[in-house]
Amino acid sequence: MAKQAEIVRDVVVVGGGAAGLSAALILARSRRRVTVVDAGTPRNAPAQAVHGLLALDGVSPLELLERGRAEVVRYGGEIIFAEVRDVSCTSLGFAVMTRDAAVLHARRLLIATGLVDDLPEIEGLRQRWGRDVLHCPYCHGWEARDRAIGVLATGPMSVHQALLFRQLSDDVRYFSHDQDLGEQDRRKLDALGIPVVAGRVSRLEIVEDRLAGVRLDDDRVVPVETVAVATRMIARAEAFAGIGITTTPHPAGSFIAADETGRTSVPGVWVAGNSTDLSAQVGAAAAGGARAAAHLNADLVAEDTDRAVARSTDAQTAR
Ligand SMILES: Cc1cc2nc3c(=O)[nH]c(=O)nc-3n(C[C@H](O)[C@H](O)[C@H](O)COP(=O)(O)OP(=O)(O)OC[C@H]3O[C@@H](n4cnc5c(N)ncnc54)[C@H](O)[C@@H]3O)c2cc1C
Repeated sequence: MAKQAEIVRDVVVVGGGAAGLSAALILARSRRRVTVVDAGTPRNAPAQAVHGLLALDGVSPLELLERGRAEVVRYGGEIIFAEVRDVSCTSLGFAVMTRDAAVLHARRLLIATGLVDDLPEIEGLRQRWGRDVLHCPYCHGWEARDRAIGVLATGPMSVHQALLFRQLSDDVRYFSHDQDLGEQDRRKLDALGIPVVAGRVSRLEIVEDRLAGVRLDDDRVVPVETVAVATRMIARAEAFAGIGITTTPHPAGSFIAADETGRTSVPGVWVAGNSTDLSAQVGAAAAGGARAAAHLNADLVAEDTDRAVARSTDAQTAR
């Protein structure tokens, strides 16, 4: 059997979430030699279910990926569980190095590493993340409907978030925390009956494994059943610094810039899912992966065709 370092794959996909697996499925079905390298930490892992995904609403996030991996493998794709530490350019394309020192060579690279949700440093938030601390009205808003929801302000988008959650419950409170609230925004909250709770939030009150309320610096406790909080969303890009992949600042965090097909400014490198589209839910991440894969495959077909033409021209010249 050839050693890993001797095999040149068509594509290495870094990240095996919805975006990476969807790309790998398209590539494997195009008879491309594709390997997904995945560290196994999808963004929605703390959530019990994936919602708003047509025909699969309510599926568990881990089961969804398990099914996706089985589909990729069924068509000859390979999945390796490892974390990519570094990538470098080679004469063949790219050398992908994992933390356990394996090296994989590939003609093309697809980044599908997702993002990190940076939560404010408030006791209790991280523990309850994906359970009763939420960010997205489309992912878990229905499940929080008619509950007492506290929106914890973290930046300019928090008022917008409060308005979206107000669509789902009459009992929404806005914790201004340390954020300024402009006159116009205050009017919007007032008009929709969203009281503003002034003061810094010090921690979440958890009782019997349930969120019971929000404690403020002055020791007041405001009872809520759900907290909505906008995170800073930071694309996971560190492993690609060696090939010139950088992140671009965004009001909500940072992302890897690409054109509409997912092609980055670095030749041979594509990106899909949350690492380039911070707002993509599972369906959009999978769609982005499929789109990037189709364009990657077309790029490889064009290269293979050019090589075949060059070979046949050489053969004719030699005759
Ligand atoms: C709490 C929560 C609940 C959510 N609920 C929903 C929902 O109900 N419905 C919905 O549509 N969306 C939901 N989302 C959004 C959903 O998580 C994202 O849309 C989706 O995960 C994006 O897919 P992705 O493939 O881009 O990234 P991810 O799913 O995050 O996958 C990225 C993968 O790359 C791997 N990786 C990262 N770095 C490396 C590396 N260096 N080497 C190897 N592997 C690496 C990670 O381990 C991970 O497995 C939720 C998000 C959160 C935070």
